[in-house]
Parts: sequence; C-alpha cells; structure tokens
Amino acid sequence: MKSIFTLLLVSLCLLSNAQNRCGTEAHTLELIEKYPAYTIARSKVNAQTNKWIENYPSHSEKIIITIPVVVHVVWNTNSENISDAQIFSQIEVLNNDFRRTNIDIINTPTVWQGTAADCEIEFCLAQTDQNGIATTGINRVQTTQTSFGMSGDPVMSVASGGADPWSQDDYLNIWVCDLGSSLLGYASPPSNWTNPADGVVIGYKYFGNTGTAQPPYHKGRTATHEIGHWLNLEHLWGAWGSCGNDQVSDTPKQEIENYSCPSFPLHPDACSTTNANGDMFMNYMDYTNDACMNLFTTGQKTRMISAINQYRSNLLDHTLCEGVVSAITESINQRKELVKIIDVLGKTTSERTANTPLFYIYNNGTVEKQIIIE
Ligand SMILES: [Zn+2]
Repeated sequence: MKSIFTLLLVSLCLLSNAQNRCGTEAHTLELIEKYPAYTIARSKVNAQTNKWIENYPSHSEKIIITIPVVVHVVWNTNSENISDAQIFSQIEVLNNDFRRTNIDIINTPTVWQGTAADCEIEFCLAQTDQNGIATTGINRVQTTQTSFGMSGDPVMSVASGGADPWSQDDYLNIWVCDLGSSLLGYASPPSNWTNPADGVVIGYKYFGNTGTAQPPYHKGRTATHEIGHWLNLEHLWGAWGSCGNDQVSDTPKQEIENYSCPSFPLHPDACSTTNANGDMFMNYMDYTNDACMNLFTTGQKTRMISAINQYRSNLLDHTLCEGVVSAITESINQRKELVKIIDVLGKTTSERTANTPLFYIYNNGTVEKQIIIE
C-alpha cells in the first residue's frame, strides 16, 4: 500500500512538472485570444522564416550578435531580491549555452556532436539605458505583491505591482519574480506585431546557478529555454500536440516532453517511426533537468538568427553593451603609451634609425608611422 502511495505521489509530482516547466504555449494562446492582430502575425511567421532562410543562406551579415539584457528583479521578500552575483551567473550560463562553451557539451551523445551548434549569440547586461544613461542593466523594484501569475502579465507593469519594460525593440527584458504555483517561466515568441508583453519571465528559484536557484532547475537552463522561445524556437514535440513539427529539420521527431534525466537512447520507436537515436532529450527545448541539457542544433540556430534579423533587428546594430562614452574614456585615450616600435618587416626594434619608416604601436590600439629625417 505504501509503495502504491509513493508511486502515486511521484506521478503527481511529474504531473505537476508537466503543467509548469514552461508556460509559453499557454501564454501564446492567451495573447492569441486577446489580440487578433497577434494571431495573424504569428500565422505568417513560419512562412516568413523559411523564406528568409532561403534568401539568406549565409544567414546574417553580423556574425556574433550580442543581445542587451535588462533584468527587472521584482521582489517582495528579501530572498526574492536576488543578488547581483546570481544575475551575473545567469548571463554567464546564457553565453556558454548559446556559444556552446558550456562544460557539459561532452555529455552530448556522439551521434549529435556534429549537429550541435555554436549559435554565435551572446548576451550582456545593458550598459546604457533607454535614456542614454549608464546602467548596470539591473532594475530592482520592491512590490507589495506576494506573487505574480502569468495571466495578463502583471509583472510587466508598474500599475500592477511589477516593472515597466524598457524599449522591447532594443532590449531583451527579463523579469525575475515569484511566479506563484510551480511555474518556472514563460516567454513571448516573436512576430511582426508589436507585443506589449514581449519578454521573458522567470521564477526567482530558477534563475542563474547560485543563490536561490533550486535543484533540479538550478543551472540557469530555464532562461536558456525561454530565450529559445523568445527567438522563435518551438518545443521538440512541436506546438499544440504530440509528434508535432518544431519547424527544424535536424531535431528528431519526438512524441512528447521528457522529464528528469533519461539515458540515451530514449524512445527509439516514437511517432510510428524507427529512429535508433530516439529523442534528443538533452536539447534545451525539452523539459529535462537543467543538469541534463546541453545543446541547440544548427537548425535551431538558423531559426533564431532568422528571428533576430526579421523581427528583432535592432539587436543587430547597437552600442548598448558598450557603455556611455564618458570623460573617463576620453582621458584614457589621451594617456596613450608606447607599447613597442616595429620596422617595415614587423620586427620589434629599439633603435630609432634615421630616414627609415618605423611604426609606433600604442596601448590604445593606435599606430603611427614615423620617419626621423636627418
Ligand atoms: Zn517551453
């Protein structure tokens, strides 16, 4: 009897995970019901994306795309007011996951090592705010709200106890708060429609890999997954059902989400096909534990790059990660110091030979050609 009860409890826990790992599909449905314009715009996204990929086989003129992030920490209790270190840890996880420099890439099964991609997308905490003023990219807001639900996006507005977004064309807005229930996070997929609820929301227990982050979702992969949605990725089993189409050709067809930390190969006979490799359960767009995720594929990369170029193009060309040009920067430029002198053959020299061109290299990156004429 006890074992049956335990089994039931485990099943209920799994069920509760099934409902709450990611709220993006439910959130998208809510937006579709609320805004007819969003329905129309979203219905065009897949065709637009396929066309863009066809027209731009080399994908993007900008090779490394850096996305400026503002993190709105909306807190009621002290523990919800997560530390700067926890926020930095999340940015580091994002950079490692999207550049495939995460240490757990060795856990990608051999058959998919060649499919896994360096997405060439990076993230920075914004150094300049929307008024051109220097910022840390962290916006802390104390609230009287003890928790926020997903419906109506209350955390995205000061009027409902949250924080207003910064320009959604220019920044990735991430809200970190108590999401209530056990919802980990949700995001808004892109389209040509201007979405007042654009951004990503993550529960404060699932953000970064230190501080309040709780196992098994304590390695920052909730944000990696939700930003995948924000850049137009679907779950591996497709939208709205099982064995669906995730619009990416190099992820195997998958029946439904996976939890916990399975062993490879998993479900090799799913979706009425025989696929010896089975589900790509370690993909960031599945529901497995943070510690068991480790890749995006080349097809997913292409779809994300396409989304940025089509719907989030301000992210291609900005200076929001570089900070405000200040008097300090100017004075550093004025204090330039000679690093070395090289001759026309590129050899370092200390002799300032007369009537011979020499190149003076300075610590600020400038080079001067000088000839001492005698
Ligand atoms: Zn999701």
